[in-house]
Amino acid sequence: MSAVLLGMPQVPPTSPRGVGHLRGDESFPDAARHSLADTQLRANLGNATRTIRAKRARVVAEVPDWEELREAGRQIKVHTMAHLPAYLTQFEEAVTARGGVVHWARDAAEANRVVVDLVRAKGVDEVVKVKSMATQEIGLNEALEAGGIAALETDLAELIVQLGHDKPSHILVPAIHRNRAEIREIFLREMGDVDPDLTDDPAALAGAARLHLRRKFLSAKVAISGANFGIAETGTCVVVESEGNGRMCLTLPETLITVMGVEKLLPRTEDLEVFLQLLPRSSTGERMNPYTSMWTGVTAGDGPQEFHLVLLDNGRSAVLADADGRDALNCIRCSACLNVCPVYERAGGHAYGSVYPGPIGAILSPQLTGIEDNASLPYASSLCGACYDVCPVKINIPEILVHLRAQHTEAYEAEHSVPSAEATAMRAVAFVMSSPRRWRLALRGGRLGRLLGRRRGVIGEVPLPLVRQWTEARDLARPPQQTFRDWWAAEHGDTEHGKGEQ
Ligand code: SF4
Repeated sequence: MSAVLLGMPQVPPTSPRGVGHLRGDESFPDAARHSLADTQLRANLGNATRTIRAKRARVVAEVPDWEELREAGRQIKVHTMAHLPAYLTQFEEAVTARGGVVHWARDAAEANRVVVDLVRAKGVDEVVKVKSMATQEIGLNEALEAGGIAALETDLAELIVQLGHDKPSHILVPAIHRNRAEIREIFLREMGDVDPDLTDDPAALAGAARLHLRRKFLSAKVAISGANFGIAETGTCVVVESEGNGRMCLTLPETLITVMGVEKLLPRTEDLEVFLQLLPRSSTGERMNPYTSMWTGVTAGDGPQEFHLVLLDNGRSAVLADADGRDALNCIRCSACLNVCPVYERAGGHAYGSVYPGPIGAILSPQLTGIEDNASLPYASSLCGACYDVCPVKINIPEILVHLRAQHTEAYEAEHSVPSAEATAMRAVAFVMSSPRRWRLALRGGRLGRLLGRRRGVIGEVPLPLVRQWTEARDLARPPQQTFRDWWAAEHGDTEHGKGEQ
């Protein structure tokens, strides 16, 4: 959250929807293989996720009714999604009544066009930005650049990513893959006005960034933000952040443009009571976030005098139409699921090739783009369920992952006359297991595995079709001398097992 909750990358939009690949055409397994070979990256990620996990666990344990809060958050989100069209209409009316201008954008291309036109109309060639996942999703920075407008990231981590010509790898901590020494190098190389004796002390690094940004805050005419929440009954937008850069962007420039996904709505102001407890504890491990900025339209003589709100669909209506996948829209982008995910901790965010990494990325990106564009992501999980346990709005991520895997399998089978190797293997297993006689014969045949595992005590890679891919990454236990069925027959007499086909 923060500066932290809203985010932004340097991702060229690959489709009108924008939620494109960061890694080119590499699938998750290939990209993850590269990341796993980077020991520095793994060390940085391991340290950072361990620290955030411990902070979160500590502050969550302090709240006696945490489970009730999670349930309340879930119910508010489910209710809002069930009545989204009505709440959006109410929200638009309230924003307009308070002097704001609402723009609707079906996809990334439309949203980018609206924003670029608005900035051009102000006659400026530079804007300051508050971290925002929505603008990252649509590739707004690249669209602005193509329009001759420079977008300056003001969140510290986003600034590091931008100056490093890099890509974010975490929703909340976009530069989580960098350590202090690397950040110092980037600042010395890219900040023209930095002290050449800069150390890698965190306070010194933050001070250098503050100096670099201050002049921009004071001179910017236009700011661009996302929104953590929109309140339907009042037309209020909310941004929560940790650094104060958001507050500067939201109050100092003459014009404010906010890009907000349509799913960010809450019905009433009092709903914030739930989410402002859930969000900071789940994201940064803080009891409350340092800055919560709320604004409603335009207030004469106070803050930006022109406010534009771009309400972004970009695939969300399609997600909402899927009863089994729509809970992904309930996400409040806290990133708790990333920090507990054993796959994310080892592979890092870039391997997902999606603006939304980690478990939430694995269920949200394929739904926003269509499963064919991010087909490997639903498989980027061990289905251990740690993400579900920590999610502050109780999104059952493993269940949606399985749903998306099924969707992908069905789409594959509809397109190919020859079933996949996995489907063939599953059918073979089903055939064998549906008959006691066939199962018994298979178990006897399995004893051959004792030969394969003779030397190491486990069966390593078996270079046969169907099993090679599975065994190249896993060792199989060597089958025992005696199967359970043989043992049972020896102990109790062969009552059930000798009856043949049933
Ligand atoms: S899915 Fe849940 S845990 Fe993950 S980012 Fe969204 S709200 Fe947070």
